[in-house]
This record gives sequence, structure tokens and C-alpha cells, in this order.
Amino acid sequence: MQIPRGDERRQNLIGGEWRAPATDKYDPCLNPADTREVLGHFPRSGAADAKAAVDAAAKAFPDWAATPGPERGRVIGRAHAILKSRVDLLAEALCREEGKVFSEAKGEVLKGLNLLEFYSGEGFRQHGKTLPSESRSTLSFTLRQPVGPVALITPWNFPFAIPVWKTAPALVAGCTAVLKPASLTPICTHLLAEALVEAGLPPGVLNVLTGPGSAVGEVLVDDPRIRAISFTGSNEIGTRLYQRAAARGARVTAEMGGKNPVVVLDDADLELAAEGILQGAFGSTGQRCTATSRVVVTPGIASRLTEAIVERARQLRVGNGMTQGVQMGPAVDQGQLKTDLEAIAAARADGARILCGGERLQAGECEHGFFCSPTVFDKVEPGTRLAREEVFGPVLAIQAARDADEALHLANDVQFGLTASIYSRDYFQIMRFVEKTEVGMLHVNQPTVGGEAQLPFGGIKATGVGEKEMAEEGANFFTHLKTVWLDYTGAKRTTNIY
Ligand code: NDP
Repeated sequence: MQIPRGDERRQNLIGGEWRAPATDKYDPCLNPADTREVLGHFPRSGAADAKAAVDAAAKAFPDWAATPGPERGRVIGRAHAILKSRVDLLAEALCREEGKVFSEAKGEVLKGLNLLEFYSGEGFRQHGKTLPSESRSTLSFTLRQPVGPVALITPWNFPFAIPVWKTAPALVAGCTAVLKPASLTPICTHLLAEALVEAGLPPGVLNVLTGPGSAVGEVLVDDPRIRAISFTGSNEIGTRLYQRAAARGARVTAEMGGKNPVVVLDDADLELAAEGILQGAFGSTGQRCTATSRVVVTPGIASRLTEAIVERARQLRVGNGMTQGVQMGPAVDQGQLKTDLEAIAAARADGARILCGGERLQAGECEHGFFCSPTVFDKVEPGTRLAREEVFGPVLAIQAARDADEALHLANDVQFGLTASIYSRDYFQIMRFVEKTEVGMLHVNQPTVGGEAQLPFGGIKATGVGEKEMAEEGANFFTHLKTVWLDYTGAKRTTNIY
């Protein structure tokens, strides 16, 4: 297991073999902190490769589905052990391909390992239920069965954790899979697949394919043998994919954008709130679906909180995530950097006041990468672009609220519903937020970010459709329930079952 370098070519994993793409085309993987560093070349696959991957997944399905759950779980467990012995290598790969700083990359790897550990145990726990039947001497129960071959389509921002949190539950549930990572960040997916192969995963159970979503993703979404699609990415692609898959009756879970607020009320612990906001807004360069992109603050604490945030944001050291002491890395590519800078320009044009940052950084070690300075705006009016649209970069909007009621209103006043946080010590207000915030995940007195293997993860409103991910729910998505009546009277029925 190694991080690819230079001219090295990686191949697709199809039917247990690392195969060259039928297209014979490859794309380089670049380090966004220093684009002079080439991290190998990955297949630019096409429709024929996607079809071959589905063929392999379909062929492997009957046997894998019939493999006992605990045995499936043990393969995941062995992959966990292999990857656990290579945490630093994985973190370095992640840092180099995606740009987040090494300590964050390591945190993501450890989270992925927790998920593997959790799902290895789920092999023992795929449970249905028994319920009394209306009929005498009849056992009625539900069975969980794998839905079939599935497609897993992942974004670039968590290139290790997200492939894990889709692959592990799919495989443990008895599905075979085609995993398509984001074209910008294929390396961690390859390292994960290598570990699963080394752990004894049978050929064809997991197939890995790189290439443009428009070319290979759509083939996967449209193939009738693919019975479920688990997607994380943008709203634009996710909603389109959802419609296409629904038209042929395939199951979809799609986790998409966010515009996550932190609400800070007058009685909050200011230091705690400022630290949490900084971590949520600028951790992973703001390239997290759960990133804090808005602060909604009441008047008694607003100016002190704003000062504390700006002071901290100014001090953040931006650079290559492999350099000791660097606290924030680059945007993942030129396109994302452009999106960040355009959002900043739009906020200025819409009348928001810039308090720090707002520009591309190109001096010193930022010279060869896609760096944007940590940026804070206040006086961000509801209805403006920065108040409503996801940036997916290090740009924070501070919005003023008259009181807790207006803060709740502003928090909910977006199309998204992924995560939110409230800082307060007033448990009446906290409980009101618990009840009324329109999100899939709520944090109290902690940042908007994070998730745990055993807890369901996902959003509502325009953020998410379908089953939540991670936890038991994450595996349930890949199964269907069969209801069974087992009549052991051996006699003609006389009861009423409709
Ligand atoms: P994209 O939607 O651009 O891409 C996501 C994946 O879909 C990639 O693998 C991409 O391939 C693929 N894809 C692109 N076009 C198609 C298509 N027509 N059919 C099928 N698949 C396709 O998102 P990003 O990678 O840019 O990720 C950023 C977005 O992800 C943000 O909006 C963020 O909010 C969201 N996100 C949400 C999370 C959540 O849990 N709610 C978590 C993490 C991110 P390719 O790379 O080749 O284009």
C-alpha cells in the first residue's frame, strides 16, 4: 500500500482484477496545496468500463448475499486491522490529495476506522422482528435481505470517510458494489479497496471505477441491475440522479448541500462559542457539508463575539497541510477557489461588510496552490446570496437577530437542513431549538461538525433524501424487509387475514 507518485498509473478494480480502462485514458491527481506534485494517474473510464463493473458486481452478488452476515463482517474487520496499521500513510495520502491539514486528515482516517469497526460487528446484528400473527400456530417475522448490486458515488471533501461509510454497510448487508470516487480524490478509495482485497473480499464484491461522473456515474444510475444508489455531493447532481433512479424504481439516498447556522444567544459562553465557530467555519477549509457557514447572534453578545471570531480568524496559519503548524489548507481545486472568490465578491456587492480575509493567497508556500484567506462578513442580510447559498469554502456570514425568536427564524430560513448548533445556557431556549430547528442533526454548545459511526447522519429539506447514513440505518438502506408467515397447523386456514 503506497501513495502513488509521478507517472505511476493506477487501474480500475473490476471482478477482483486491477484492469486498464477500455478508454486507455488517464488523468493526473494533483496536490491542491502544490500542484507541481503529481500523485499518479487514474483511469478516465467510460461507459464500457462502468458496464464491466456492473457485470462483475451482478455476477458476484448471489454468492456474497448467501455468505453469512458474521463472515461478511469479519472481512470488514480484517480490513479495519490492515488500515489501522497504516493510519499515518492514509492521513498523508488524504492530506496530499484533498489538502486538509495532516491532523484533520488523521481525524478523518480515524473516523473511517471507527465506521469499519462498527460495521464489522453489524454482520452479527442484521435483525428483523417477530410479531404475533392474527392466526393461531403461525410464526410471523421479517427478514432483512440485500437489495442487490448497488452504486456508491462519493464527493472529494471526505475522500476516506465517505467511501467507507457507504462501502462498509453495503458489503456487510450482503450487497455487491461499484464505488465511484470523485475524480479529484481517488487515492484514499484505492487504498481502502486494496485493504479489502487483502482482507479476503471475494472478486467482484467491490468494484472501483474512476472517471467523470457524467460518463460513468450516469451509466451506473441507469443500469437496471443496480438496485440502490448512495450518493453524496452537490444538489445539482443529486437531485437529477434521484429523479432518474426513481423513474426506474431504484432506491436512492442522496446527501447534498448545507448552510449550517450557529445560533449564539446573549447568555452563551463567549469563548466556547468563538472557538466552536472557528473550528466549524475554517476546519477542513470550510469544505465540509457540516461546516458552519452562518452565525446568527443576538445583540447582547454580538460585537464581542464578532471581535473574538475575527481576531482568531486573522491568526490562522494557512498553507500546505503537511507543514507543521499549518491550520488551514487550500481549496480542493481551481474551480472551488473560483467559487469561493465569487461568493466573496457577491457578498460585497450585496452590501455585507468584510471584516477579514477575502482574497486569494499566493505568497510563500501558497504560491503553487489554491489558497483563499479565512473570510468573515457581518451585516449579511437575509435573502442575500451569502445568507442562503452554500459556498463550501472558508467564508463565514454573521447575521444579527433581535432576539431568540428571530434567531430561530433566521436559522431555519434556508432551503437546506443538515446541521445547526446553539450556544446558550438557558435550557428552555435550548429545548425550543431542539424542537423547532429544521435540521437532521443539532449540536448544543459544540460546533456544527462531526458525526459518529453509531449515530445516524444526514439532513432534511433540500439537503437529503432517503435513509440516513452511518449507524444501523446506514446498513438498512441496503436491505429490504421480507415479511414471512409460517403456518405450522398443517390445516386449512379459518382466520381472517386481509
Ligand atoms: P458533485 O455533485 O460534483 O460530485 C459528487 C460525485 O458525483 C462525484 O463522484 C462526481 O464525479 C459524481 N457525478 C458528477 N456528475 C454526475 C452525474 N451526472 N451522474 C452521476 N454522478 C455524477 O459534488 P462534489 O464532489 O463537488 O462535492 C461537493 C458537494 O458535496 C457539496 O455541495 C457538499 O455540500 C456536498 N456534500 C454533502 C455531504 C452530506 O453529507 N450532506 C457530505 C459531503 C459533501 P466527478 O468527480 O467525476 O465529477
